[in-house]
Amino acid sequence: MSLEEYSAKRDFSKTKESTDGEETAQDGSSIFVCQEHYASRHHFDFRLQCGDLLVSWAVPKGPSFDPTVKRLAVRTEDHPLAYASFEGEIPQGEYGAGRVTIWDAGTYRMEDFPTIEEGLARGAFRFTLHGQRMKGSWNLVHMKEKNWLLIKRRDEHSLAEEGEKAKRR
Ligand code: MN
Repeated sequence: MSLEEYSAKRDFSKTKESTDGEETAQDGSSIFVCQEHYASRHHFDFRLQCGDLLVSWAVPKGPSFDPTVKRLAVRTEDHPLAYASFEGEIPQGEYGAGRVTIWDAGTYRMEDFPTIEEGLARGAFRFTLHGQRMKGSWNLVHMKEKNWLLIKRRDEHSLAEEGEKAKRR
């Protein structure tokens, strides 16, 4: 993992996005962030800290709290850790042009593997999120190429199928 692809896509004289991973996590815990991105196609960017990087997925429909719903999560380039606090406007003409807001943020811990590197290598892993919106146990499952599925696991923080439908109405 590296920031090569991230840096190649961006002109830092034009965008205010981070150039490196200058920010460190508090108290040694790992952080996550879910940014809402009003790009040409609206989506959510879900990111999990891995050392001084953020392993990243674009989730077109955003996370679902219904354990029966599997949300496509397309793996995108690693981002610098400092990107977790980025909110603002990526200028028109630049990569990912459009507004970015932090939809949720907090910490996470791996459940079935000691490190996220191992989870990524295995192609499926569980983790617990401690955010404002995203809480409890979640799954990321690799399908093929860059496609993964983000799935809420059933627990006290999941919504029943009907609850999720009601929320959308
Ligand atoms: Mn994005």
